[in-house]
Amino acid sequence: MNKFEQLGLNPSILKAVEEMGFTDPSEIQEKAIPVLLNEDTDMVALAQTGTGKTAAFGFPLIQKINVSKKHTQALILSPTRELCLQITNELKNYSKFEKGLNPVAIYGGASITDQARQIERGAQIIVATPGRMQDMINRNLVDISKIEYCVLDEADEMLNMGFFEDIKAILSHTPKEKHTWLFSATMPKEVATIAKKFMRTPIEITVGSKNQGTSNVSHEFYLVNSRQRYEALKRLADANPDIFSVIFCRTKRDTQKVAEKLIEDGYSAAALHGDLSQNQRDLVMKSFRSKQIQMLVATDVAARGIDVDDITHVINYQLPDEIETYTHRSGRTGRAGKSGVSMVIVTKSEMRKIKSIERIIQQKFEQKDIPDGMEICRVQLFHLANDIKETKINPEIEAYLPGINEVLEDFTKEELIKKFFSVEFTRFFNYYKNSEGLSSPSAPAEGGSYGDSTRYFINVGSKDGFDWMSLKDFLKATLDLGRDDVYKVDVKDSFSFFNTDSKHTETVLSTFKDFKHQGRFINVEETTDTGGRGKRGGGGGRKGGKFNKGGGKSDFKGGGRRRSDSSGDSGKGKRTGNRNKNIESSIKRRRSKN
Ligand code: AMP
Repeated sequence: MNKFEQLGLNPSILKAVEEMGFTDPSEIQEKAIPVLLNEDTDMVALAQTGTGKTAAFGFPLIQKINVSKKHTQALILSPTRELCLQITNELKNYSKFEKGLNPVAIYGGASITDQARQIERGAQIIVATPGRMQDMINRNLVDISKIEYCVLDEADEMLNMGFFEDIKAILSHTPKEKHTWLFSATMPKEVATIAKKFMRTPIEITVGSKNQGTSNVSHEFYLVNSRQRYEALKRLADANPDIFSVIFCRTKRDTQKVAEKLIEDGYSAAALHGDLSQNQRDLVMKSFRSKQIQMLVATDVAARGIDVDDITHVINYQLPDEIETYTHRSGRTGRAGKSGVSMVIVTKSEMRKIKSIERIIQQKFEQKDIPDGMEICRVQLFHLANDIKETKINPEIEAYLPGINEVLEDFTKEELIKKFFSVEFTRFFNYYKNSEGLSSPSAPAEGGSYGDSTRYFINVGSKDGFDWMSLKDFLKATLDLGRDDVYKVDVKDSFSFFNTDSKHTETVLSTFKDFKHQGRFINVEETTDTGGRGKRGGGGGRKGGKFNKGGGKSDFKGGGRRRSDSSGDSGKGKRTGNRNKNIESSIKRRRSKN
């Protein structure tokens, strides 16, 4: 008797289990399935996503449903459309050999009439988001008056998303005698209230300890200045060449901004947030699942229900406002028995949050230094060596070998290896060779001057049609500098101020020597004047729709397409003098292999 048989599952489910390749039940399955099969009871189960909880309630549910009857016998409420679809799919897999069972997903953003039609055909199990379910009840499109089982999945998430009233209203349409099974990753007061209000002496099951994150996730933090966040993120990615990650930002705007920067810098990244249309979000998720995207930059709300099993890293670009949210973020990795890393990029002023999170997850963070440039070069080099070792030889290459051999015939094996590696390594090396370390405990506080910085006066201002953003763009383009190399841009009426790191001073001053713009001489001088920069760069953040629309400059285009767009740009051909571009194209090419 295998371990699933011992749980009391019937042959059709066991056959599906075998087909899915599950060998051993997970802890939550071992604890919940026998109880739910053998006892008519309510249950509160504390388990993270990725612990196999869908099967923990799904197997008993399928076994208990009477497939000869068509009416709705079970309702599963879950927070997001993605989760609904995922649960429905899993249920279909589990019931593959259970003829006549029809689970139907009900969620917003899709045709309500189509969903009503599917229910009409007979849906013994409905998997629904609370909002759409409530809508369908109001329109008399569903009948849940005879359900025997109600599952509240990710109850804490549903309450976080403000579904309390909907859940209450939905439950009021269900019979009192039904059994409720509540699954939640954490047990905040609100969930306890639901359990108390709507459940009858539930059996409580806990996997791990209450409110604890998944234990196969290790937690690391990296202390940086806020201005270094983005550079730190890039280095973390570069030091982990096989990274497959979700990067969390606090706002939609930051999410879009970070994704755009990553794409611009040649990473396979995309944004996922609520300003994207459902269609765009679906496309992003499809690309992420198929690993065309290595770095998914997401808001907490949009990331709910990401059901991808082999995420290697969760990166907290910024910590969440509510520290409890950290548990959900880190729970996106370390799923299905795999290990994962949750990294936090943190500034000095946020350090106390790390302590609070440690108390919640009952695990210690490890403080780590952002990898330095040479360490990254070493990692990349060995990664390349391993890639070569694992690469299957393409037989088509045979035809070209005589010619290639002729070109390379004068070199020994050692020389060839050195040359071959140098192709990739030199550009990478050049990019990092003058870079500074990022984890500097003595680094100045947020908002203070950073490192060796120079402030300049420039004799153009708002009268000349500049705002801080357009002036920054103009300076970047004219000076051939990267997005973050020009900062603290402060535009006054007829003049402005800006900063660069001092290593660029010579470039700045020489570029603007005898420089004419639209027929007028532009003068740039070093200054010690702060320009009284009360409001950063003219204040008010970015105007216009650039980062706010989400739709227009679609981040989704970035991931896959950009990489192939750039594949022909070896960085050798066009010596435009743009140092960064050449280096970035080498990084792009490295990333284009996936
Ligand atoms: P869940 O926590 O239900 O989202 O499940 C996470 C992933 O683990 C899903 O891809 C399931 O198909 C998979 N899974 C569930 N139970 C098992 C099991 N006993 N053995 C292996 N994989 C499982």
